Amino acid sequence: MKYMTAEPFRIKVVEKLKKSTKKERLEYLKTAQYNAFRLKAENVYVDCLTDSGTSAMSNEQWSALMLGDESYAGCKSFYKLEKSAQDVFGMPYIQPTHQGRAADYIMAQIYAKKGFYAIGNMHFDTFRGNAEMLGALAVDYVINEGAKANDQYHPFKGNIDLNKMQSLIDEKGKENISVVIITVTCNNNGGQPVSMQNIREVSTLAKKHDIPVVIDSARLAENAYFIQQREEGYKNTPIKEITREMFSYCETATMSAKKDGMVNMGGLFITRNKEVFEVANQLAIAHEGFITYGGLSGRDLEALAVGLQEGCEESYLEYRTNQVKYLGDRLKEFGVPIIEPTGGHGVYVDGRKFFPQIPQSEFPSQRLVVALYEEAGVRAVELGACAFGSKDPETGAPIWPELETMRIAISRRVYTNSHMDVIANALGDIYKNREKYKGMKLVYEGKITSLRHFTAGFELL
Ligand SMILES: *Cc1c(COP(=O)(O)O)cnc(C)c1O
Repeated sequence: MKYMTAEPFRIKVVEKLKKSTKKERLEYLKTAQYNAFRLKAENVYVDCLTDSGTSAMSNEQWSALMLGDESYAGCKSFYKLEKSAQDVFGMPYIQPTHQGRAADYIMAQIYAKKGFYAIGNMHFDTFRGNAEMLGALAVDYVINEGAKANDQYHPFKGNIDLNKMQSLIDEKGKENISVVIITVTCNNNGGQPVSMQNIREVSTLAKKHDIPVVIDSARLAENAYFIQQREEGYKNTPIKEITREMFSYCETATMSAKKDGMVNMGGLFITRNKEVFEVANQLAIAHEGFITYGGLSGRDLEALAVGLQEGCEESYLEYRTNQVKYLGDRLKEFGVPIIEPTGGHGVYVDGRKFFPQIPQSEFPSQRLVVALYEEAGVRAVELGACAFGSKDPETGAPIWPELETMRIAISRRVYTNSHMDVIANALGDIYKNREKYKGMKLVYEGKITSLRHFTAGFELL
């Protein structure tokens, strides 16, 4: 009876979508230099570029907007948000920010240090960027099962490898590690969850060596739902009890509220450490806005206060993860190689296995993004050779990443399973004809390699 669960909501407002012809799409692609980020959204039929800031708000969120208190200091809306966030995180001190990366900036200022290591499962780009600009050494210690795009089953592919962490402590000394950051779910390798046991053990090991633990919690509710479904001992535990336990093991958390916060804009910096909070407050005043609004309007604070609660509803999370699984299952019927099990916010297609004839130097996953848009007007995103590729600092020789995927991100409460079918059928067709595809050449990449995918230009080979 699993698939008898449909959307736990009905549709009250609709937004029209434009359909285009293949001929038109070929033109749009040429103009965009074959980079999905450079397409106009109005020319996209089903937009799976990202799940960030694309959620549909509920009628309760829309009506909460009218209650927005736009006072500069001490606005009513802040106290509602504070109460809602305390309920979900179980931590006392809440600093709003305009979006997640602003919280990452504050986090890096406090926890990242020049020449010190920052251990993560897989650091998300915005924290990594902020930390590396300060001279920190960000290392990714996700378990081996999670490090490669593969179909090897592991229920928690976002877990941190405790042995790797211990080795770094032994080799470099605990005094050279400034922070451990657990990203839940782990975005970069498929929205893969981290188990409660792993969070607990990482925290115990870090505490033993006086290293603070922080959680990058954009998808905290999806992570909590996977813990409830997959980890022993949590089957009957309510979601918010699980989230509060997750955060009981860390000192501080950041959140991009554009994901499980169910809003289009917003972020949070949350801590249990009063001194850390006071530093964060002053950084926020300098960069974001006063403590009680942090770069957001009162109405945004209201929508987030409601959204945080809705994101933790079990019926919603069941629908959410089942929709992602539905797309994954449809793709598997066509033989399309994906990362399994499917994670929280999207399906990740294995670019290497899809196009084995295209080497990483010719961007197989990017080629797939282009093919999918060309065939069906569906926009996905490359997380592979372009996004994660780097260069040897001395020779400039390209370094190709372990992960080579195309991510199909699913927006929250936005698309139906009929849209999922459009995506699956199109990819199924492309897979049938996969031999006829050739690679791509990178013709523009800008100065900062780690950010090149946003503005890159390509040619078809
Ligand atoms: C999206 C995201 C961020 C950055 O948040 P923005 O709101 O886009 O600035 C940070 N960490 C993770 C894990 C994210 O998914």
